[in-house]
Amino acid sequence: MSVQDDLWFDPSKCFIAGKWVAPAGGETLSLENPSDGSEIARIARGGRTDVDAAAHAAMNGEWGRKTALERGRILTRIGQLVLERVDELARLEAADVGKPLKQARADAVALARYMEFYGGAADKIHGETIPYLDGYTVYTLREPHGVTGHIVPWNYPMQIIGRSVGGALTMGNAAVLKPAEEACLTALAFAAIAQEAGLPEGALNVVPGLGEEAGAALSSHPDINHISFTGSVGVGVLIQKAAAENIVPVTLELGGKSPQIVFEDADLDAALPFLVNAGVQNAGQTCSASSRILVQRGIYDKLTAMMAERYRALKVGPAMADLDVGPLISARQKEIVEGFVSHADPAHILAQASVVDSAPEGGHYFPPTLYGGIDPDDPLAQNEIFGPVQAIIPFDTEAEALKIANGTAYGLVASIWTRDGARQMRLAKAIKSGQVFINNYGAGGGVELPFGGVGKSGHGRAKGFEALYGFSVLKTVAAHHG
Ligand code: NAD
Repeated sequence: MSVQDDLWFDPSKCFIAGKWVAPAGGETLSLENPSDGSEIARIARGGRTDVDAAAHAAMNGEWGRKTALERGRILTRIGQLVLERVDELARLEAADVGKPLKQARADAVALARYMEFYGGAADKIHGETIPYLDGYTVYTLREPHGVTGHIVPWNYPMQIIGRSVGGALTMGNAAVLKPAEEACLTALAFAAIAQEAGLPEGALNVVPGLGEEAGAALSSHPDINHISFTGSVGVGVLIQKAAAENIVPVTLELGGKSPQIVFEDADLDAALPFLVNAGVQNAGQTCSASSRILVQRGIYDKLTAMMAERYRALKVGPAMADLDVGPLISARQKEIVEGFVSHADPAHILAQASVVDSAPEGGHYFPPTLYGGIDPDDPLAQNEIFGPVQAIIPFDTEAEALKIANGTAYGLVASIWTRDGARQMRLAKAIKSGQVFINNYGAGGGVELPFGGVGKSGHGRAKGFEALYGFSVLKTVAAHHG
């Protein structure tokens, strides 16, 4: 079965005002299959004119006038249709992103879950009454921003669209979505499904294209009232500057260098799959990847040996072979990852996974690599590599572990592995991070759990109810009635 069999929409078009339209500039871009380097499809090279049309359609759509109950029902229906198409969506995402089919399937199920969660939440968010002076009644209303812009990356398109566009639609906002030029098929599929579920025209518009063209046009557009950006720190800075020109709020979900701290009293067998999987899932191209493993000296030899054995058993190959790890997204991403490791001392390599012989020549394969004995200031322990590379850092005391954990520019996710309850509580408070896991690690999961960063990991919260506060504006009404 080829990817083309799963394309029931035209991938070379934009989706604007409920219609599939060719980009105004008439140009298309090549979409590559990272598993073998072949062209999957031609996608629209959208630009300023298309973003203009999308913003206009979003402003004039009827979505904002629907009741919360009606919105919730449509979002829930989208979730049901996503579930019915899980296999097609999984194949599209696997071909487009290069992730193993089982991961792509989990992402499709997560997209459905976002729609179910937000569909159920739509009529449960409300304002409050505030006791005030005698003769007054004061209450607050939660209102939509209006038109929201969503710029998403290529690593988890379905999950990120679910949390970003899903949250915005819940609160009655319209959305203009700019998917990544490297992977945008499921964004278009999602628009087709949403339309089938009854989402009115204009509520969701999709303009594929290059970041510096369609993305820049969207982030600087005067009719966009809120921007959600998920991607790199460098582009996040540009987005925040563009939003500042129009004085609109932004949510920035950026990178990470997330640590897992393993103490001597931890259950190592329970920790092991989380320690490794959080580093190699999606070939390490996960914002919340755990690329630093802090290990207390007394268990250092034992745990590094356990992790090394697991690394050696990992198989890397094409997405459709559904192995442990797929290719990186592009030749460029492979160059970036190789650039980082080329500066590292090969003597610190503890283990590497293997790429299967049948992996096609044109694929962008990089074997997951485990480094040990890494200094906390080493570039491997400081920079977000965005590839399947983990650095193990030894430590002696809790204070030292905390200092290392907090010793990067990022703060997205962290985990603590220990049976000591007091230590769990102390560290959960002291770690600078948007999420802290105790005796588990939730890379990417948890629709219900507020997610976001501190420091260079960004600001604002996605997921859960918390995201819905960000996707709405609070209005205070003070009535004087004597
Ligand atoms: P990227 O910043 O290059 O691209 C992300 C999106 O921004 C794409 O849609 C791209 O087209 C667009 N873009 C690029 N230049 C732009 C510009 N000048 N103006 C407007 N839009 C522009 O990031 P990437 O390489 O695609 O993704 C990797 C990064 O994303 C990593 O740093 C990773 O940590 C981060 N990420 C974070 C999260 C999170 O939730 N925190 C999730 C996934 C990825």
